Amino acid sequence: MVSAQKTTEPKIAVSIFGATGSIGKSTLDLIRRAPSRYDVKALVARRDGRKLAELARAHGARLAVVAEPESYRDLCEALSGSGVKAAAGREGLLAAAAESAEVVIAAISGAAGLEPTLAALSAKRRIALANKECLVSAGRLFMQAAKSSGATLLPLDSEHNAVFQVLTAGPREAIERITLTASGGPFRTYSVERLARAVPEEALRHPIWSMGAKITIDSATLMNKGLELIEAHHLFEMPSARLDVLVHPQSIVHALVAFRDGAVIAGLAVPDMRVPIAYCLGWPERLAWDAPRLDLAALANLSFEPPDIVRFPALRLARAALEAGGALPTVLNAANEVAVEAFLARRIGFLDIPAVTEGALERAISEGLREPATVAEALAVDHIGRSLARTLLPQFAAKAS
Ligand code: NAD
Ligand code: MG
Repeated sequence: MVSAQKTTEPKIAVSIFGATGSIGKSTLDLIRRAPSRYDVKALVARRDGRKLAELARAHGARLAVVAEPESYRDLCEALSGSGVKAAAGREGLLAAAAESAEVVIAAISGAAGLEPTLAALSAKRRIALANKECLVSAGRLFMQAAKSSGATLLPLDSEHNAVFQVLTAGPREAIERITLTASGGPFRTYSVERLARAVPEEALRHPIWSMGAKITIDSATLMNKGLELIEAHHLFEMPSARLDVLVHPQSIVHALVAFRDGAVIAGLAVPDMRVPIAYCLGWPERLAWDAPRLDLAALANLSFEPPDIVRFPALRLARAALEAGGALPTVLNAANEVAVEAFLARRIGFLDIPAVTEGALERAISEGLREPATVAEALAVDHIGRSLARTLLPQFAAKAS
């Protein structure tokens, strides 16, 4: 006789690195919709101890970690009596990676995510990777670590998530090209003269996506798509020559994969990061949730155009760094992080972001830096890239003022 006992689905144990950010919030929104389906393990943020404690309490997390030790006190105070463990600094981040989560949402912004994400990878977690700077800064060693640990690496970035899903349509050797789409950002139609006068408030107003400040500026310069080319190169083992970018302002088609028989399979979804996040949480199953549905008739038109690398040189720089390899992708990422911060602080102009990055790349070439083979080397090259960019800032700052 069949037992009448109802089988309960096993819970999904989740940790979120970057819990207070845009991807972190979208993940917690999905969890809030079906709390009985999840078991929240570690939540990590940079420094907002109070906000992190609030999230940890609300979701019954086991551990809350702030990267900056100065925020530890705030975190402990705000967690008092909750039963949630608190930790801080590098040790805290390693403790978060050691928590027994089945899936880690890797959504720290910038190369700062490299060490904690690698630690989670080595602990054989399933990694849902949003933090593309990890792959740009240390792609080869990151992918080697993923392979040797046996961890599952799922791309969370919407374009790469779409590619990952589309890849099931045919064998690897039958893939001819991969195309990533780009919204074009808020300045898609701006002239070079207008771009030169663009200010942070304008650059932060993205037409489609609501994201953290750094990636929003990267979307305005198109560096985001450049970083994504390098990300795709590592994730899908594709040479630069077989990776394309297509501007698609509606951001409905996220990526296209062309196969050798002429078939092109595209990944479509409403532009909402909860869709790829839900895919990563549910993998290899598919979660049911009240996702906003795609209504193509209501949209009526989807448009496409080639990217303009004259107005948006960041894309050209990223492509060049990908093709040159060595230490250049690490330097590209580091210099861009410094330049974006300087632009947000109004020290340099919008077009100075790629100019500073290009200057740092030129100096790195003349210094003959080697490709990092270990995490320590990656962090050292990242440090050099930041210093090179910082020494260039004053000359651009003088021009901007
Ligand atoms: P965000 O700025 O909104 O959030 C970043 C999070 O990382 C915050 O929780 C912050 O506290 C934490 N953080 C920052 N520095 C840290 C450090 N040193 N140690 C520990 N935690 C730290 O950024 P976001 O928009 O959520 O993006 C996060 C990552 O996901 C980025 O790499 C971005 O490129 C990628 N991504 C984001 C989106 C999006 O829609 N937001 C889409 C695709 C990919
Ligand atoms: Mg993306």
